[in-house]
Amino acid sequence: KKYVYTFGGGSAEGDKSMKDLLGGKGANLAEMSSIGLPIPPGFTLSAEVCKFYNENDEAWPEGVEAQLQEGVAKLEKLMGLKFGDSEDPLLVSVRSGAAKSMPGMMDTVLNLGLNDRSVQGLANKTDNTRFAFDCYRRFIDMFGNVVMGIDHEEFEEVLQKLKDEEGVELDTELGVKELKELVDRYKAVYRKSTGYMFPQDPNEQLHHAINAVFGSWSSKRAKTYRKINRITGLLGTAVNVQAMVYGNMGEDCATGVCFTRNPADGTNELYGEFLVNAQGEDVVAGIRTPRNIDELKDDMPKSYEELVEMTEKLEQHYQDMQDIEFTIQQGELFILQTRNGKRTGVAAVKIAVDMVDEGLISQKGAVQKLVEPGHLDQLLHPQLNQSDISEDEIIGKGLPASPGAAVGKVVFNSDKAEEEHGKGEAVILVRIETSPEDVGGMSAAEGILTSRGGMTSHAAVVARGWGKPCVAGCDDIVINYESQSFTNGEVTVKAGDWISIDGARGIVIKGKKPVEEPSFGENYHTFMNWVDEIRDMAVRTNADAPEDAKRAREFGAQGIGLARTEHMFFGEERIKAMRKMIISETESERREALVSLLPYQKQDFIDIFDAMEGLPVTVRLLDPPLHEFLPDEEEEIESLAKELKIPLRDLKRKIRLLKEFNPMLGHRGCRLGITYPEITEMQSRAILEAAVHLKKQGKTVLPEIMIPLVGTSEEFIHQHEVVDHVAAEVFKEAGESVEYKVGTMIEIPRAAIVADKIAEEAEFFSFGTNDLTQMTYGYSRDDAGKFLEIYMQEGILKDDPFQILDEEGVGSLVKMATEKGRKARKDLKVGICGEHGGDPSSVRFCYNLGLNYVSCSPYRVPVARLAAAQAKL
Ligand code: PEP
Ligand code: MG
Repeated sequence: KKYVYTFGGGSAEGDKSMKDLLGGKGANLAEMSSIGLPIPPGFTLSAEVCKFYNENDEAWPEGVEAQLQEGVAKLEKLMGLKFGDSEDPLLVSVRSGAAKSMPGMMDTVLNLGLNDRSVQGLANKTDNTRFAFDCYRRFIDMFGNVVMGIDHEEFEEVLQKLKDEEGVELDTELGVKELKELVDRYKAVYRKSTGYMFPQDPNEQLHHAINAVFGSWSSKRAKTYRKINRITGLLGTAVNVQAMVYGNMGEDCATGVCFTRNPADGTNELYGEFLVNAQGEDVVAGIRTPRNIDELKDDMPKSYEELVEMTEKLEQHYQDMQDIEFTIQQGELFILQTRNGKRTGVAAVKIAVDMVDEGLISQKGAVQKLVEPGHLDQLLHPQLNQSDISEDEIIGKGLPASPGAAVGKVVFNSDKAEEEHGKGEAVILVRIETSPEDVGGMSAAEGILTSRGGMTSHAAVVARGWGKPCVAGCDDIVINYESQSFTNGEVTVKAGDWISIDGARGIVIKGKKPVEEPSFGENYHTFMNWVDEIRDMAVRTNADAPEDAKRAREFGAQGIGLARTEHMFFGEERIKAMRKMIISETESERREALVSLLPYQKQDFIDIFDAMEGLPVTVRLLDPPLHEFLPDEEEEIESLAKELKIPLRDLKRKIRLLKEFNPMLGHRGCRLGITYPEITEMQSRAILEAAVHLKKQGKTVLPEIMIPLVGTSEEFIHQHEVVDHVAAEVFKEAGESVEYKVGTMIEIPRAAIVADKIAEEAEFFSFGTNDLTQMTYGYSRDDAGKFLEIYMQEGILKDDPFQILDEEGVGSLVKMATEKGRKARKDLKVGICGEHGGDPSSVRFCYNLGLNYVSCSPYRVPVARLAAAQAKL
C-alpha cells in the first residue's frame, strides 16, 4: 500500500483532489509541482499513517519505513545533496497538514538534519558560519519545543542571559562565537529537560519529528479547535517533509505570506507581509513586525514581479483567492504553500463578483465555491455607527483584522472568557497575542483585541475564519496581565470595563456603543441574483410579526413557512383575554373570551398578509400547552384573580389543574383544537376574515392553515372540517371568498409513518423537525443541553441534532413521509419549518429529498438561499 507520495522537479505522485489523504498542504504542493511552480521538493506521508499511529500505540503501518527511506533517497537525488552531510547537507522542514485547515493547531519543525557536522556543511555551502549556527540553535529550540515538549521560554532565558553577558540587545548582534556558545547552552537545556543528548542522527530526528506531528493531532488544543469548528470524519494529519529553502541567508533573502486579494474587503490587490532576512516562523509568530508587501516591489523588484506572476497563475489554476507562503532565497523565489484564503463575508462576495467579471470563473462556479453560507451570515452582522463615534473616544487603533462590531466587558484570559460567557456575559478577549491555546476563549468572546501581531497573526486568521470581530496589533495600548488592565498612556481600562471594537476599521472605543444593522452592497445583490437563478427550492421564513416578515422579504424570503400564532397572544391586553379563555369553565365562557381575542388576531393577520402580499403564508393554529400562558408568580396570580373577578382559590385550583407532568407530550397542538374547537374556529375566522378584507382591497393573499402536532389522520380530518365550516360562514357573510389550503405539521413520528393516510386529506406537509427530533430521539428539547455537550465530547453524537438534522434517524422519517405523502397526493407541497431549515447541511438534505421549500428565521434566509443553490450544483 502506498503511504508516501513524492513531489518536486515538475512532477508529483499526488494531486489536489487527494486532500483526504495528503492533507490540504500536501495535495496543493503536489498540484503546484505538477503545474510547474517553483516549490522545494519533498514528500508527504499520508494521513492514514497518522490514523494508524494514533490507534496502534504510536506504531507505523507495515511498509512505511521503507517508503520513507525511498522518499528521502529520491529527495537527495533531486537536490543533489545528502542528509546530514558535512560538506553540503540536505536539510528539511517537517510540517503537518490535514484535509481541513487548522491555523496554528499543528506543529512545524524547520532545519531538520542539522547536527554538529552538517552545521559545518551549511556554513561551507552558504559561506556564512553565523547563519549556519543561527539555524542550528533555532533548530534545537524548535525541535526541543515541538518534538520534546520543552518550554520555549527555557531557551529564551538562556538566550537573554547570553545577550546580557555580551551586553547586546538584539539577536542579530550575536556573532559566530556567541552563537556557537548558544548552541552548546541550548543542547544543555535539551539534555537537562529530556535526559537525552540532542540527537545527532538526521534519520532519528526525522522520525521523532514525524511522530510529534502525528501526536499533535490528538493534542488537547487540536481537539478543541476541531470541536469548535465541527471538524469531524478526518483520518488525521498528513506530514510534509520538504527541502529547506532559506529566507534568512542575507539581505537578498526574504520570507512572507500573502493573499492574492485583500481578505478583509476583497479588493483585487496583492495583500500581505514580508520580512527581509528572516524565516517564515518570524512572520507568523508576530515576533518581528512585518512590512507591507508593497515595499517588496522596491526592495526586490524582480522577485516581486515573479511573485505577482505566480499569484496570477495560482488564481487561474485554483479559480479562487489564494493564501500563499513564499520565500526568496538569494534572489530566487520559492512558493512554500498555497491554499484557498480565508476571507470575510464582504470580501467573499466581492471576490466572487470580481472573478466572474474577470472571466476567471463562471457564475455557477462562483456560487458553488467562492462564497460559503456562513459568509452571508457575517454580512448580516451589526456594525458600529460611524457618525456616533468621535475621534477622542477612540482609545486605540490597530489592524482591521476581522470586520463587525463587538461590545463587551474586558477579560484578559481565555478561561475567564469562557467562564463569563457561560454566565451569559458579553466579553471582549484582550491579549498581547493569541495562541492556539486561546481558541476556547476566542470562541466564547464577542470580539478579540490584541496589541501585537499582523493581519496574518493567529488572532486575525482565526477570527476571520469565524467571522468574529477582531482588532489585531493595536500597539497604542499596553496590556498588563498582572494588574488586569490595559492603558494607552492616558486612559486605563480594567477587567470588567466595557469596550467596543470595530473590526472593519480597527478601532477600540471605551464604553458600550450601540450597534446597528448592516446594509448590503451592490455586489451582494448581484451575487444573490445568480444564487436565485440557479436555485429551484424555495426559501420561506418563520415569522409571526409584520416587521419580521418585512425584513425576511427584504432578505429574499418567498413566503412564510411558519407563523406561530401563540406569539401573538402576549401583548398586555391580549394576554388578559387569553388567560380568561384558558380558565373558562364552560364553552360559552370560552367563546366569550375568544370573541375579544378575534379582533387582535385578525389585525395581526391583516398586517402579516399585507407584508407578504402575493406570497404564501402558512399560519399555524395554537400549539403550546395552555399553562404556558398563565402566570406562576404569586403576585401575578393575585392580580389576575382580581382582574378576572374570581376568587384567588378558584384561580389557583384552575392553574393546578392545568399543570401537566409532561407538557410537551400533553394537552397541546391539535389536541387543543379538538377539545376546544372554538379556538380553531376563532383562529380560522381571524385568518380568513383578514384574507377577505385584503382581497377586497385588490390584494392577493395566499393563506395556508396548518394544523400542529397531528399524529392520526382522524385528528386532521376533525380540524379540517372545523376550518372548512368556518370558511364557508366567513365567505358567505363577506360575499367574497379566497383560496386557502389546509395542511399539517409532520412532527410526531406516527404522523411520518402514516403520512400516506394523512396526505389523502392534507394539502401540504411541513416538517416540524424540532418536535420530530425531540420525539424521535426522546430528548426533551428544553432539557437536552444537560447531556448533549457530553454526548458530543464522547463522540456518541456527532452534532447537536437540534441544530443539524439527524439524517440517519429523523431524516429517514422525513424521507419516508415525503415519499408516502407524495404517493397518496401527487402535488403535495412539502416543506420544513424546524430550526434545521436555516442550517446549510440540512438544507442540502431537504433539497436532495425534493422538498418544495425550507423555512427559517429571517436572518438565515440569505444563508438558506445560497445553501439551496449550492445543493443543486
Ligand atoms: C417544530 O416542532 O419543528 C416547529 C417548527 O414547531 P415549534 O418549534 O413551534 O414546536
Ligand atoms: Mg413543533
